[in-house]
Amino acid sequence: MPAPPFTDTPALPTPPEPAVPARPFKPADRGWQRELADAVRDPFELCRLLSLDPAIAADAGRAAGTFPLLVPRGFIARMQPGDPHDPLLLQVLPRPAERMQVAGFTTDPLEESHALASPGLVQKYAGRALLLATGGCAINCRYCFRREFPYAESGATQAGIEAALDTLAADTTIHEVILSGGDPLLLDDDRLSRLVARLEAMPHMRRLRIHSRLPIVLPSRVTAALTETLTRTRLSCVVVVHANHPAELDATVEDAVARLAEARPILLNQAVLLAGVNDSVDVLTQLSERLIDLGIVPYYLHLLDRVQGTAAFEVDEASARALHERLRSTLSGYAVPRLAREVPGEPAKVWIG
Ligand SMILES: *Cc1c(COP(=O)(O)O)cnc(C)c1O
Ligand code: SF4
Repeated sequence: MPAPPFTDTPALPTPPEPAVPARPFKPADRGWQRELADAVRDPFELCRLLSLDPAIAADAGRAAGTFPLLVPRGFIARMQPGDPHDPLLLQVLPRPAERMQVAGFTTDPLEESHALASPGLVQKYAGRALLLATGGCAINCRYCFRREFPYAESGATQAGIEAALDTLAADTTIHEVILSGGDPLLLDDDRLSRLVARLEAMPHMRRLRIHSRLPIVLPSRVTAALTETLTRTRLSCVVVVHANHPAELDATVEDAVARLAEARPILLNQAVLLAGVNDSVDVLTQLSERLIDLGIVPYYLHLLDRVQGTAAFEVDEASARALHERLRSTLSGYAVPRLAREVPGEPAKVWIG
C-alpha cells in the first residue's frame, strides 16, 4: 500500500545485522579463480610437467605469436607424460606449422566482423542472438577462431554489454540468448546472475543458452552459486559444453557435470573434428559414449573453421563424412553428433551429416 503523502511516524530503527548472512560465503566458490590465475603460460613449464623435450617448448615459444599458451593445471593432469602427440596436449601446444600461410585459411573465415548487431552481439540466425560476454577463455585452443578474431575488442566491455542488452530488449523476435565469448563462465557468479536477471526481465526472452568449455577445462567453475542461478531463473537453460576427446572427461569433470545437472539444464556437447586429436571412429565413439554416461548429449561435431594458423588440424570434408557414416553404425542414434560447418551467409549451420 502506498504511504500517505505526509506522515509524522518516526523512522523505523535499522534492523540489526543478521547473525548469519543470507548467502553464506563459500571459500570453495572462488577456488576456480585461483586455479585460473595459476594456469600454465610458459611452454618450458608445460614441457617440464610432462617430461617432454625442452626443444618442443622452444618451438612453442616461437610459434605462439599473439595467441599465447594458456592451459589450466587440471587439464594438464589428464595428459600422458612423455607423449608429444597426446591429444589434449596437441589442442594447446603452439606448433611451428601455425606460422605457415595456407591458401584458404584467413583471419575472418566466418565474416563475423560484419555480423555484429551491436558491439558484443552477433546475430546471424533467426530467433537467437549470441552475446559475447567476455573476450577471454581459461584455455587457448590452437584451432580456435578466437586466435584471429578480435573478440576482446568487439564487446565484452560493460558498455558493450549494456548496448547489447538494449538491442536484445528492443528486439522481440529474439527468444534465446546464447552467452558466448570467449568463455561466458569467466564472468564471476555475481556478474553472471546480474546478467541473467537482466535477460529474464525481457518478457520475450524464453531461453538461456550458455556455451562454455569451463566445465571441462576448469571444472571447479561449476560452483553452488552457478547451479543456483540456473535453477532459479524462469528461463529454460541449455548448457553446451565443449569436449573433443574422451580423456578430457575425467572424474573431476564428472563431478562438475553432476553439480551442474542439479539445475536440470539440457546438457549438450559440441566438439571440433581435429586431425591428430579425434579423427578416428574409435575416439569419437568413446567420446560419445562417455558423454552419454555423464548425461550430456553430443550435439555438433564441427568441421574446422578455416582460420589462419589452424591448417594442421583440418580433416577434409570427404574423410569427415566417411567417419560420420561409420559413427552412425557404431552408436545409438541420439549419441551421434551432427556433422556441421558454418558457412557465411547461410541461415543456419550447414549439416553435412
Ligand atoms: C552457432 C551459432 C548459433 C547457434 O546455432 P544453433 O544451430 O542453434 O546451435 C547462433 N548464433 C551464431 C552466431 C552461431 O555461430
Ligand atoms: S575454449 Fe572455446 S572459445 Fe576458448 S579458445 Fe577454446 S575453442 Fe576457443
